[in-house]
Amino acid sequence: MQVRVRALETILTEKGYIDPAALDLIIEAYETKIGPHNGARVVAKAWSDPAFKARLLKDGTEAVNALGYVSRVGDHLVVVENTSQVHNMVVCTLCSCYPWEMLGLPPVWYKSAPYRSRAVKDPRGVLRDFGVTLPRETEIRVWDSTAETRYLVLPMRPAGTEGWSEERLAALVTRDSMIGTGLPKRPEDVAS
Ligand code: FE
Repeated sequence: MQVRVRALETILTEKGYIDPAALDLIIEAYETKIGPHNGARVVAKAWSDPAFKARLLKDGTEAVNALGYVSRVGDHLVVVENTSQVHNMVVCTLCSCYPWEMLGLPPVWYKSAPYRSRAVKDPRGVLRDFGVTLPRETEIRVWDSTAETRYLVLPMRPAGTEGWSEERLAALVTRDSMIGTGLPKRPEDVAS
């Protein structure tokens, strides 16, 4: 795959269709600037600001745009909230659609056929593989992303974080907790 990508890039560059410097900038942006720290900031703000949380759940795109995040791929962001009754999990059964502007590039397993099929057939088994065991009564909702609509999970705020700043809260938010295949870290996990 890497060789094929390089061959394609070489041909497109030689024909003058792309500028390799521009391509490097895009790749660098996704490697350094755009990543799960963006989503973590949004989640931490929702945990600490009820008005922002309401806005985020009502219209995810509008709320994250207000923080300066603009999506170039798929402009409809839906934020789904985890509660003690409902746990949300995100998949793209067709390919790999993912909220890039919030989470960066999708992990390899997200794009894999086993995850894409099992997330729907056996979400509890997938969660178990990720080390997440939920109470039997917790309902699991699986959301299938499309090119137009991307989902972000708003995980439950960990106990024992009362009065924490948004910055401290953001450090608890893992990428997987925003896909729904993980939970946020607990205060004791980050105690120094
Ligand atoms: Fe997709």
